[in-house]
Amino acid sequence: MVYVTKSFGYIIQALLIFMIHLMVYYETNPIKEMLDEFSDYENLFNYITGWPIYIFVMINYILACTMHPGKIRENWELCYNYPKSQVTYCEACKVVKPPRSWHCVRCGFCVVKRDHHCDFTNQCVGYGNIKPFTFFCIFGFIGCAQFLVRSLQYSYHWINDDLECVKAYSKTYMIFLWFLMYVVLAFALFLTTITKRIIMNVLYNTTTLEQMVIADGALRPCEFITVENNAFDLGEIPNWVQSFGINPLLWFWPISPSRNGVTLGPFFNYLEALFDAKYHMKMI
Ligand SMILES: [Zn+2]
Ligand SMILES: [Zn+2]
Repeated sequence: MVYVTKSFGYIIQALLIFMIHLMVYYETNPIKEMLDEFSDYENLFNYITGWPIYIFVMINYILACTMHPGKIRENWELCYNYPKSQVTYCEACKVVKPPRSWHCVRCGFCVVKRDHHCDFTNQCVGYGNIKPFTFFCIFGFIGCAQFLVRSLQYSYHWINDDLECVKAYSKTYMIFLWFLMYVVLAFALFLTTITKRIIMNVLYNTTTLEQMVIADGALRPCEFITVENNAFDLGEIPNWVQSFGINPLLWFWPISPSRNGVTLGPFFNYLEALFDAKYHMKMI
């Protein structure tokens, strides 16, 4: 298996951020002139779906890349009667791992409730950053869809030669736009599979890794495997609360669920990421 190394991952991160801003540029470039030619409803739609989506994508992406995916506290204790066989020792980190913790070779540390290592965020997705990662996928997909619809609209007017502000664009400009549409479409399709998987994982309290083990490493992109007799599955709502926090008002806000139901806000997320594994065990 060929892995994307951590340093090569920074290049992927830079390319993704560059692509997002290229999309914003191509989408907003002719918009000022177009606004005069659109109906009021369409203009209202533009305002509601434009910048807020960009802001949500960027905040959640930055959080998914920077928040610790799930650090193991030194003196955690095993609560409830989970099988002792699930508690193992990591030779590399020199820590006793709680159940569902896996060592990531690329990150270089153990991650609590590790889901998978994401090349786009250049770190693991785990207990600590599953919420911003999920929202990055959801808002990212909406942003891609919006870009594709808008670009199709520009292309239609350019081909028909019937809109002043789009008419002036050169062939090269449009060819590059179509190439970008192709890349964004591929990324959007990838996001649909990953978004579906991550939401199912949250609802059924499983991880991609656990399913990989059942599938013997051959998990297909759209495949979701139900883990039989899953001791961690509390039911769909409690599972959701475990990953997204207790307060429904904050479920769709880019901050992480914190310990004891207290949310400290985005600037304190790094503190929250140093969560207590004992609390995690009580939660599950
Ligand atoms: Zn480790
Ligand atoms: Zn990792």
